[in-house]
Amino acid sequence: MTHPNRRPLIAGNWKMHKTVSESVALARAIADTSRIGPRTDVVVAPVFTALSAVKTALEGTPVALSAQNLHWEAQGAFTGEVSAAMLVDVGCRYVIIGHSERRQYFGETDDGVAKKTRAARGAGLVPIVCVGETLSEREAGITFDVIGRQLDAMLAVLDESALATTVVAYEPVWAIGTGKTAKSSDAQLAHAFLRDRAKNKFGDAGDALRILYGGSVKADNAAELLAQPDIDGALVGGASLDAEGFGRIIRAAG
Ligand code: PEP
Repeated sequence: MTHPNRRPLIAGNWKMHKTVSESVALARAIADTSRIGPRTDVVVAPVFTALSAVKTALEGTPVALSAQNLHWEAQGAFTGEVSAAMLVDVGCRYVIIGHSERRQYFGETDDGVAKKTRAARGAGLVPIVCVGETLSEREAGITFDVIGRQLDAMLAVLDESALATTVVAYEPVWAIGTGKTAKSSDAQLAHAFLRDRAKNKFGDAGDALRILYGGSVKADNAAELLAQPDIDGALVGGASLDAEGFGRIIRAAG
């Protein structure tokens, strides 16, 4: 039986899209409760500049707020950065960490991801930590080495009790924004591998860890992916910018 902690979680990563007023309009449309079943957690991650306004727009709705990144220091001379406590202050409950775009374009490392995960948890945020292999890594047959290494780096800063309030997103890099989705059976294999790895370190507590799939999830492929036993939800990029399509993904989760 699935661990009771593993309520389906559907998170929309809006990336660097939308002005403040556009973000508020999208948040309102998504929060239309008729779209959200009582058993599903829904999260949206707007750009930093829209967090405050979206927080206000989401008040009284079941949709939670996430940031797309943070810095691991609490404060200081780190121009352009935002700390975990600042995200809590603006109303975030979640934060995405180590997205492949940050690893690819901004030089994020496993070490930085670990520090960010520790900082997020220290402030009471739920980290959504992204792992995933590139196309060349998949073709070289090292998918599990790569995602195992990425997972270990973040597990190293957790203890057993943290697994229920930490989220991992398996996002094969070749599937992000490309329209290519991992076969549901391949995604399930990766998710089961990640869960086993967490269980090897922490025992049965690993059953509480929610593992999302990300990579070109759309309304028409969500149900099949979400039906896999170790897929606990989805991290959705492009399709989360359309409230209607995102609503269909949410409904596919239950
Ligand atoms: C993402 O940004 O995490 C993502 C999965 O993007 P997309 O759904 O557009 O592939």
